[in-house]
Amino acid sequence: MAATKDTNPSQPTIIIIGAGLTGLLAAQALKNAYFDEWAETLPMYNGETGDLMFKSAVPGARRITRRGLREVLSEGLDIAWGRKVTRLDTESDPEKVKVTLAGEEGVEEEEVWADYVLGTDGAGSKVREILFADQENGEEKAKAKRSGFMIGTCVVDYQDENVVRKVLEKHPVMAMAMSRGAVGGFGVQYTTGTPPSDLQHTFFWTKIWKGSLSITPDIPRKGPEAVRYLKQSWQGDLSPDFQSFVDATPEDDTHTQAFIDEMGTWIAQPFDNRDGRVTLAGDAGHPMLILRGQGFQHAVIDVQNYVQALLEIRDSGKDRKEVVAAYDKDMVERGSKAALQALEEAELAMDAKSVEKMLMVRKGHGRSV
Ligand SMILES: Cc1cc2nc3c(=O)[nH]c(=O)nc-3n(C[C@H](O)[C@H](O)[C@H](O)COP(=O)(O)OP(=O)(O)OC[C@H]3O[C@@H](n4cnc5c(N)ncnc54)[C@H](O)[C@@H]3O)c2cc1C
Repeated sequence: MAATKDTNPSQPTIIIIGAGLTGLLAAQALKNAYFDEWAETLPMYNGETGDLMFKSAVPGARRITRRGLREVLSEGLDIAWGRKVTRLDTESDPEKVKVTLAGEEGVEEEEVWADYVLGTDGAGSKVREILFADQENGEEKAKAKRSGFMIGTCVVDYQDENVVRKVLEKHPVMAMAMSRGAVGGFGVQYTTGTPPSDLQHTFFWTKIWKGSLSITPDIPRKGPEAVRYLKQSWQGDLSPDFQSFVDATPEDDTHTQAFIDEMGTWIAQPFDNRDGRVTLAGDAGHPMLILRGQGFQHAVIDVQNYVQALLEIRDSGKDRKEVVAAYDKDMVERGSKAALQALEEAELAMDAKSVEKMLMVRKGHGRSV
């Protein structure tokens, strides 16, 4: 069978003769055993000098696109695509929840009954808004808040092989870089083609800086103007390599998609879970800044705990209200702590002098709480 060798020259060349089950199994096992250790780190460079400052170990980490993972996770499920929850009625029946779903244009509003409702509707969650509606100032309380940190992203099809090679040399997945008052990420957004030789990489670079839409409401938010704004605002501070990744970004819609926004955050707080019938998970329960990549990690823990909670109610006959209250308590404590940590992490990332205090440096990218 054909064997491929990664780019790392320290790896041995191993040829396995025969692509039956044994040969394939041996090849897969060896591929795992010799996986490039450098690829399983997240390096932080001093973006001004180009020097490596530190690297966090991220063993077993894989870069996944959210769209790709959603496709995999959608398999075999009954999903009401395009419907939006608008109301939850927990008064008409003490054991049930009536969910109102708005249809797309031309589709009628629909009402469905449920025993449990789990709100996983993201950072601007409607379910969260409904859960807080009965509290004083509930609507305001439930809203994700502006964080005071802006994020600009360019998804780039570089037209320059030299730049492509240099980005991959920094790191095959993603490298981070700090410069005065900003932190950025440079890496591979996704890859198409056939390995090992016919691969086309689409890249991304991201810049995070202190700022707010309330101070600069007219900042361009997308398209070529946003690309130009990001390129112009990151001039002069960067080492030649990192500067070239920014400068080589094409400014047309065909080769670069750009987005600028202020990141939102919300410090999780207790709410009335309607006797355990309605609760939250994922970004709906704890939207946080992306620094240190904690959001989905906490979503996974939420899901595991929620499934365990429902099984406990089913199998032990324990009180629904009590069991879901325990789930909520953990989710709120973990979520609020992680969101506060992410804010602090962003603050520390803005100044090279405070980098050593970052959790990313001291504790890596593992689960924060
Ligand atoms: C650039 C970036 C990098 C990240 N990196 C990492 C990382 O390295 N590690 C990590 O752990 N996390 C990371 N995260 C965070 C992670 O992506 C999120 O925490 C995760 O995707 C949240 O998923 P979710 O399903 O809770 O929310 P979402 O993905 O926002 O999904 C919410 C869904 O609900 C739907 N919806 C909204 N309103 C309604 C409504 N009224 N009715 C019905 N449906 C509704 C939406 O259409 C959407 O489909 C990153 C995030 C970003 C932006």
